[in-house]
Amino acid sequence: MKRRDFIKTAALSSIAAGAFSAPAIAEEKETIEWKMVTTWPKNFPILGTSANKLAEVIEEMSGGRIKIKVYGGGELVPAMEVFDAVSRGTAQMGHGSAYYWKGKVEEAQFFSTVPFGLNAQEMNAWLYHGGGMELWTVTYEPFGVVPAAAGNTMVQMAGWFNKEINSVEDLKGLKMRIPGLGGEVLRRAGGTPVNLPGAELFTSLKSGAIDATEWVGPYNDLAFGFYKAAKYYYYPGWHEPGTTLEAIINKEALESLPKDLQSIVMYACKVVNQDMSTEFTAKNNAALDTLINKHNVDVRRLPDDVLEKLKALSEEVVLELAGKNPAAKRIYESYAKFRKQVIAWDDISEREYLNIR
Ligand code: CA
Repeated sequence: MKRRDFIKTAALSSIAAGAFSAPAIAEEKETIEWKMVTTWPKNFPILGTSANKLAEVIEEMSGGRIKIKVYGGGELVPAMEVFDAVSRGTAQMGHGSAYYWKGKVEEAQFFSTVPFGLNAQEMNAWLYHGGGMELWTVTYEPFGVVPAAAGNTMVQMAGWFNKEINSVEDLKGLKMRIPGLGGEVLRRAGGTPVNLPGAELFTSLKSGAIDATEWVGPYNDLAFGFYKAAKYYYYPGWHEPGTTLEAIINKEALESLPKDLQSIVMYACKVVNQDMSTEFTAKNNAALDTLINKHNVDVRRLPDDVLEKLKALSEEVVLELAGKNPAAKRIYESYAKFRKQVIAWDDISEREYLNIR
Protein backbone atom coordinates (compact mmCIF):
# COMPACT_ATOMS: atom_id res chain seq x y z
CA MET A 1 0.00 0.00 0.00
CA LYS A 2 1.37 3.41 -0.97
CA ARG A 3 1.87 5.75 1.95
CA ARG A 4 -0.68 8.27 0.66
CA ASP A 5 -3.34 5.53 0.32
CA PHE A 6 -2.54 4.28 3.78
CA ILE A 7 -3.09 7.76 5.26
CA LYS A 8 -6.35 8.11 3.33
CA THR A 9 -7.58 4.70 4.54
CA ALA A 10 -6.58 5.45 8.11
CA ALA A 11 -8.33 8.83 7.95
CA LEU A 12 -11.49 7.24 6.56
CA SER A 13 -11.51 4.50 9.16
CA SER A 14 -11.08 7.04 11.94
CA ILE A 15 -14.03 8.99 10.53
CA ALA A 16 -15.96 5.74 10.44
CA ALA A 17 -14.92 5.00 14.00
CA GLY A 18 -16.02 8.49 14.96
CA ALA A 19 -19.34 7.94 13.22
CA PHE A 20 -19.85 4.72 15.11
CA SER A 21 -19.02 6.24 18.46
CA ALA A 22 -21.32 9.23 17.89
CA PRO A 23 -24.57 7.49 18.93
CA ALA A 24 -22.88 6.30 22.11
CA ILE A 25 -22.14 9.93 23.00
CA ALA A 26 -25.73 10.95 22.16
CA GLU A 27 -27.07 8.23 24.43
CA GLU A 28 -25.04 9.56 27.30
CA LYS A 29 -26.64 12.98 26.79
CA GLU A 30 -29.24 13.56 29.46
CA THR A 31 -32.89 13.10 28.58
CA ILE A 32 -35.00 15.60 30.47
CA GLU A 33 -38.08 13.97 31.95
CA TRP A 34 -41.04 16.16 32.78
CA LYS A 35 -44.51 15.59 34.13
CA MET A 36 -47.61 17.36 32.79
CA VAL A 37 -50.67 17.42 35.04
CA THR A 38 -54.00 18.31 33.47
CA THR A 39 -57.49 19.31 34.56
CA TRP A 40 -59.10 16.90 32.06
CA PRO A 41 -60.11 13.28 32.40
CA LYS A 42 -57.28 11.30 30.75
CA ASN A 43 -57.60 11.31 26.93
CA PHE A 44 -60.79 13.43 27.06
CA PRO A 45 -61.69 14.21 23.42
CA ILE A 46 -59.81 17.25 22.11
CA LEU A 47 -59.13 18.85 25.53
CA GLY A 48 -57.18 15.90 26.94
CA THR A 49 -55.89 14.59 23.63
CA SER A 50 -54.48 18.05 22.85
CA ALA A 51 -52.47 17.94 26.07
CA ASN A 52 -51.11 14.57 24.89
CA LYS A 53 -50.32 16.16 21.52
CA LEU A 54 -48.45 18.99 23.22
CA ALA A 55 -46.20 16.46 24.97
CA GLU A 56 -45.65 14.57 21.70
CA VAL A 57 -44.80 17.72 19.73
CA ILE A 58 -42.24 18.80 22.35
CA GLU A 59 -40.62 15.36 22.35
CA GLU A 60 -40.52 15.20 18.56
CA MET A 61 -39.24 18.75 18.01
CA SER A 62 -36.56 18.25 20.65
CA GLY A 63 -35.37 15.01 19.04
CA GLY A 64 -36.32 13.15 22.20
CA ARG A 65 -34.31 15.40 24.51
CA ILE A 66 -37.46 16.18 26.51
CA LYS A 67 -39.92 13.44 27.39
CA ILE A 68 -43.18 14.44 29.06
CA LYS A 69 -45.53 12.09 30.88
CA VAL A 70 -49.11 13.36 30.83
CA TYR A 71 -51.47 12.80 33.78
CA GLY A 72 -55.26 13.10 33.70
CA GLY A 73 -57.05 15.07 36.41
CA GLY A 74 -56.85 13.15 39.70
CA GLU A 75 -54.03 10.84 38.61
CA LEU A 76 -51.11 12.68 40.18
CA VAL A 77 -52.98 15.62 41.72
CA PRO A 78 -56.69 16.56 41.73
CA ALA A 79 -57.79 18.55 38.66
CA MET A 80 -58.27 21.74 40.63
CA GLU A 81 -54.74 21.54 42.10
CA VAL A 82 -52.92 21.60 38.76
CA PHE A 83 -51.82 25.22 39.18
CA ASP A 84 -50.41 24.61 42.67
CA ALA A 85 -48.63 21.46 41.54
CA VAL A 86 -46.84 23.36 38.77
CA SER A 87 -46.16 26.31 41.05
CA ARG A 88 -44.37 24.16 43.64
CA GLY A 89 -42.65 22.02 40.99
CA THR A 90 -44.42 18.71 41.67
CA ALA A 91 -44.98 18.79 37.91
CA GLN A 92 -43.05 20.92 35.45
CA MET A 93 -46.08 21.55 33.23
CA GLY A 94 -49.84 21.75 33.43
CA HIS A 95 -52.77 22.01 31.00
CA GLY A 96 -56.11 23.56 31.93
CA SER A 97 -57.77 26.97 31.73
CA ALA A 98 -57.11 30.19 33.62
CA TYR A 99 -60.64 30.63 35.01
CA TYR A 100 -60.14 27.54 37.19
CA TRP A 101 -57.70 29.58 39.32
CA LYS A 102 -60.05 32.47 40.07
CA GLY A 103 -60.04 31.51 43.77
CA LYS A 104 -56.33 32.27 43.76
CA VAL A 105 -56.15 35.09 41.19
CA GLU A 106 -59.54 36.47 40.30
CA GLU A 107 -58.28 38.43 37.28
CA ALA A 108 -57.00 35.20 35.67
CA GLN A 109 -60.52 34.81 34.24
CA PHE A 110 -59.72 37.40 31.56
CA PHE A 111 -57.18 34.94 30.12
CA SER A 112 -59.72 32.17 29.55
CA THR A 113 -62.97 33.85 28.58
CA VAL A 114 -65.55 36.36 29.77
CA PRO A 115 -69.23 36.57 28.69
CA PHE A 116 -69.68 38.62 25.50
CA GLY A 117 -65.88 38.90 25.30
CA LEU A 118 -63.39 38.11 22.55
CA ASN A 119 -63.75 35.11 20.26
CA ALA A 120 -60.85 32.72 19.59
CA GLN A 121 -59.22 34.65 16.77
CA GLU A 122 -59.58 37.97 18.62
CA MET A 123 -58.32 36.45 21.85
CA ASN A 124 -55.17 35.17 20.14
CA ALA A 125 -54.68 38.58 18.52
CA TRP A 126 -54.93 40.29 21.92
CA LEU A 127 -52.64 37.77 23.60
CA TYR A 128 -49.92 37.58 20.96
CA HIS A 129 -50.05 41.06 19.47
CA GLY A 130 -52.13 43.25 21.74
CA GLY A 131 -50.30 43.08 25.07
CA GLY A 132 -52.38 40.26 26.62
CA MET A 133 -49.53 37.76 26.92
CA GLU A 134 -47.37 40.25 28.85
CA LEU A 135 -50.20 40.89 31.32
CA TRP A 136 -50.82 37.17 31.71
CA THR A 137 -47.11 36.52 32.34
CA VAL A 138 -47.05 39.20 35.06
CA THR A 139 -50.21 37.72 36.62
CA TYR A 140 -48.61 34.28 37.12
CA GLU A 141 -45.10 35.54 37.95
CA PRO A 142 -45.57 35.62 41.77
CA PHE A 143 -46.38 31.89 41.59
CA GLY A 144 -43.25 30.96 39.62
CA VAL A 145 -45.45 29.89 36.72
CA VAL A 146 -45.12 30.83 33.03
CA PRO A 147 -48.37 30.79 31.00
CA ALA A 148 -48.90 29.98 27.33
CA ALA A 149 -52.09 29.81 25.29
CA ALA A 150 -52.51 26.15 24.36
CA GLY A 151 -55.90 25.61 22.80
CA ASN A 152 -59.29 27.20 22.26
CA THR A 153 -62.79 25.71 22.26
CA MET A 154 -64.07 28.34 19.78
CA VAL A 155 -67.58 29.76 20.39
CA GLN A 156 -69.49 27.29 22.56
CA MET A 157 -73.21 26.51 22.49
CA ALA A 158 -75.64 28.16 24.95
CA GLY A 159 -76.62 24.65 26.01
CA TRP A 160 -79.31 21.97 26.32
CA PHE A 161 -82.68 23.01 27.71
CA ASN A 162 -85.88 21.26 28.71
CA LYS A 163 -87.63 24.61 29.02
CA GLU A 164 -88.29 26.88 26.07
CA ILE A 165 -86.65 30.27 26.34
CA ASN A 166 -88.95 32.74 24.61
CA SER A 167 -88.44 35.77 26.81
CA VAL A 168 -86.38 37.16 29.68
CA GLU A 169 -89.15 35.89 32.00
CA ASP A 170 -88.26 32.30 31.09
CA LEU A 171 -84.83 32.71 32.70
CA LYS A 172 -86.50 33.25 36.07
CA GLY A 173 -86.21 30.13 38.20
CA LEU A 174 -84.24 28.33 35.50
CA LYS A 175 -81.99 25.80 37.19
CA MET A 176 -78.99 25.50 34.96
CA ARG A 177 -75.50 24.08 35.20
CA ILE A 178 -73.39 27.03 34.13
CA PRO A 179 -70.14 27.78 35.96
CA GLY A 180 -68.14 30.98 36.41
CA LEU A 181 -69.08 34.49 35.32
CA GLY A 182 -71.84 33.15 33.05
CA GLY A 183 -73.44 31.56 36.10
CA GLU A 184 -73.35 34.87 37.96
CA VAL A 185 -75.02 36.54 34.97
CA LEU A 186 -77.78 33.93 34.99
CA ARG A 187 -78.27 34.43 38.73
CA ARG A 188 -78.79 38.17 38.18
CA ALA A 189 -81.32 37.35 35.46
CA GLY A 190 -83.31 35.40 38.08
CA GLY A 191 -82.01 31.92 37.35
CA THR A 192 -80.33 29.41 39.65
CA PRO A 193 -76.85 28.51 38.45
CA VAL A 194 -75.47 25.21 39.68
CA ASN A 195 -72.03 23.74 39.23
CA LEU A 196 -71.83 20.03 38.49
CA PRO A 197 -69.00 17.96 37.05
CA GLY A 198 -69.40 16.78 33.46
CA ALA A 199 -70.00 13.16 34.43
CA GLU A 200 -73.20 14.04 36.36
CA LEU A 201 -74.82 16.21 33.72
CA PHE A 202 -76.70 13.63 31.67
CA THR A 203 -78.45 12.07 34.67
CA SER A 204 -79.27 15.44 36.23
CA LEU A 205 -80.80 16.65 32.98
CA LYS A 206 -82.71 13.43 32.41
CA SER A 207 -84.12 13.28 35.96
CA GLY A 208 -85.16 16.93 35.92
CA ALA A 209 -82.79 17.85 38.76
CA ILE A 210 -81.68 20.66 36.42
CA ASP A 211 -83.63 22.36 33.60
CA ALA A 212 -80.62 23.04 31.44
CA THR A 213 -76.88 22.63 31.07
CA GLU A 214 -74.14 24.14 29.01
CA TRP A 215 -71.12 22.02 28.13
CA VAL A 216 -68.95 22.78 25.11
CA GLY A 217 -70.22 22.41 21.56
CA PRO A 218 -71.67 19.82 19.17
CA TYR A 219 -68.68 17.44 19.17
CA ASN A 220 -68.26 17.07 22.95
CA ASP A 221 -72.02 17.36 23.57
CA LEU A 222 -72.84 14.60 21.10
CA ALA A 223 -70.41 12.28 22.88
CA PHE A 224 -72.27 12.85 26.17
CA GLY A 225 -75.60 12.02 24.51
CA PHE A 226 -77.39 15.16 25.79
CA TYR A 227 -79.80 14.95 22.84
CA LYS A 228 -81.39 11.98 24.65
CA ALA A 229 -82.03 14.05 27.79
CA ALA A 230 -83.05 17.52 26.56
CA LYS A 231 -85.54 18.93 24.07
CA TYR A 232 -83.80 22.07 22.82
CA TYR A 233 -80.24 22.93 21.87
CA TYR A 234 -79.78 26.69 22.11
CA TYR A 235 -77.11 28.95 20.60
CA PRO A 236 -74.98 31.08 20.74
CA GLY A 237 -72.58 30.50 23.63
CA TRP A 238 -72.67 34.07 24.92
CA HIS A 239 -71.01 32.95 28.18
CA GLU A 240 -67.96 31.28 26.56
CA PRO A 241 -67.29 32.94 23.21
CA GLY A 242 -63.83 31.42 22.70
CA THR A 243 -62.36 29.87 25.81
CA THR A 244 -58.58 29.87 25.82
CA LEU A 245 -56.92 26.83 27.34
CA GLU A 246 -53.52 27.21 28.85
CA ALA A 247 -50.25 25.41 29.26
CA ILE A 248 -48.48 26.43 32.44
CA ILE A 249 -44.79 25.81 32.98
CA ASN A 250 -42.78 25.93 36.19
CA LYS A 251 -40.54 28.97 35.67
CA GLU A 252 -37.45 27.43 37.25
CA ALA A 253 -37.80 24.24 35.21
CA LEU A 254 -38.25 26.25 32.01
CA GLU A 255 -35.26 28.48 32.69
CA SER A 256 -33.05 25.50 33.50
CA LEU A 257 -33.45 24.29 29.89
CA PRO A 258 -30.99 25.29 27.15
CA LYS A 259 -32.33 28.21 25.08
CA ASP A 260 -33.30 26.05 22.09
CA LEU A 261 -35.40 23.73 24.26
CA GLN A 262 -37.10 26.69 25.96
CA SER A 263 -38.03 27.91 22.52
CA ILE A 264 -39.32 24.47 21.48
CA VAL A 265 -41.58 24.27 24.56
CA MET A 266 -43.07 27.72 23.95
CA TYR A 267 -43.56 27.24 20.18
CA ALA A 268 -45.08 23.80 20.71
CA CYS A 269 -47.78 25.50 22.83
CA LYS A 270 -48.46 27.83 19.90
CA VAL A 271 -48.80 24.87 17.53
CA VAL A 272 -51.32 23.13 19.83
CA ASN A 273 -53.15 26.40 20.45
CA GLN A 274 -53.91 26.72 16.74
CA ASP A 275 -54.42 23.03 16.15
CA MET A 276 -57.15 22.68 18.78
CA SER A 277 -59.18 25.50 17.20
CA THR A 278 -59.05 23.85 13.81
CA GLU A 279 -59.89 20.43 15.25
CA PHE A 280 -62.93 21.83 17.09
CA THR A 281 -64.09 23.60 13.94
CA ALA A 282 -63.83 20.45 11.83
CA LYS A 283 -65.42 18.12 14.37
CA ASN A 284 -68.19 20.51 15.45
CA ASN A 285 -69.30 20.82 11.82
CA ALA A 286 -69.67 17.07 11.47
CA ALA A 287 -71.28 16.62 14.89
CA LEU A 288 -73.84 19.38 14.29
CA ASP A 289 -74.83 17.65 11.08
CA THR A 290 -75.29 14.35 12.99
CA LEU A 291 -77.31 16.04 15.76
CA ILE A 292 -79.68 17.71 13.31
CA ASN A 293 -79.99 15.11 10.59
CA LYS A 294 -79.63 11.86 12.50
CA HIS A 295 -81.02 12.72 15.95
CA ASN A 296 -83.49 15.43 14.85
CA VAL A 297 -82.30 17.86 17.50
CA ASP A 298 -84.30 21.10 17.78
CA VAL A 299 -81.56 23.73 17.41
CA ARG A 300 -82.73 27.21 18.39
CA ARG A 301 -81.34 30.70 18.70
CA LEU A 302 -81.83 32.56 21.99
CA PRO A 303 -84.25 35.46 21.37
CA ASP A 304 -82.78 38.95 20.88
CA ASP A 305 -84.26 40.42 24.06
CA VAL A 306 -82.83 37.55 26.12
CA LEU A 307 -79.38 38.09 24.61
CA GLU A 308 -79.66 41.86 25.19
CA LYS A 309 -80.50 41.27 28.84
CA LEU A 310 -77.66 38.78 29.30
CA LYS A 311 -75.29 41.23 27.60
CA ALA A 312 -76.22 44.10 29.91
CA LEU A 313 -75.80 41.90 32.98
CA SER A 314 -72.49 40.55 31.63
CA GLU A 315 -71.10 44.08 31.33
CA GLU A 316 -72.04 44.64 34.96
CA VAL A 317 -70.36 41.40 36.09
CA VAL A 318 -67.17 41.97 34.06
CA LEU A 319 -66.90 45.56 35.33
CA GLU A 320 -67.18 44.31 38.88
CA LEU A 321 -64.37 41.83 38.20
CA ALA A 322 -62.29 44.74 36.86
CA GLY A 323 -62.87 46.61 40.12
CA LYS A 324 -61.57 43.81 42.35
CA ASN A 325 -57.95 45.03 42.42
CA PRO A 326 -55.49 47.26 40.50
CA ALA A 327 -54.13 44.31 38.48
CA ALA A 328 -57.63 43.34 37.35
CA LYS A 329 -58.23 46.95 36.33
CA ARG A 330 -55.04 47.04 34.21
CA ILE A 331 -56.00 43.80 32.44
CA TYR A 332 -59.59 44.93 31.92
CA GLU A 333 -58.48 48.24 30.40
CA SER A 334 -56.22 46.50 27.90
CA TYR A 335 -58.88 43.88 27.11
CA ALA A 336 -61.75 46.37 26.79
CA LYS A 337 -59.76 48.71 24.53
CA PHE A 338 -58.79 45.82 22.28
CA ARG A 339 -62.36 44.51 22.24
CA LYS A 340 -63.74 47.88 21.16
CA GLN A 341 -61.25 48.25 18.32
CA VAL A 342 -61.55 44.68 17.08
CA ILE A 343 -65.35 44.90 17.01
CA ALA A 344 -65.12 48.00 14.78
CA TRP A 345 -62.84 46.13 12.37
CA ASP A 346 -64.62 42.76 12.55
CA ASP A 347 -67.95 44.48 11.88
CA ILE A 348 -66.80 45.47 8.40
CA SER A 349 -64.62 42.42 7.75
CA GLU A 350 -65.54 39.03 9.29
CA ARG A 351 -69.15 39.81 10.24
CA GLU A 352 -69.94 41.47 6.94
CA TYR A 353 -68.36 38.65 4.98
CA LEU A 354 -70.25 35.97 6.95
CA ASN A 355 -73.47 37.86 6.26
CA ILE A 356 -72.96 38.12 2.51
CA ARG A 357 -71.68 34.69 1.60
CA1 CA B 1 -68.69 25.42 28.73
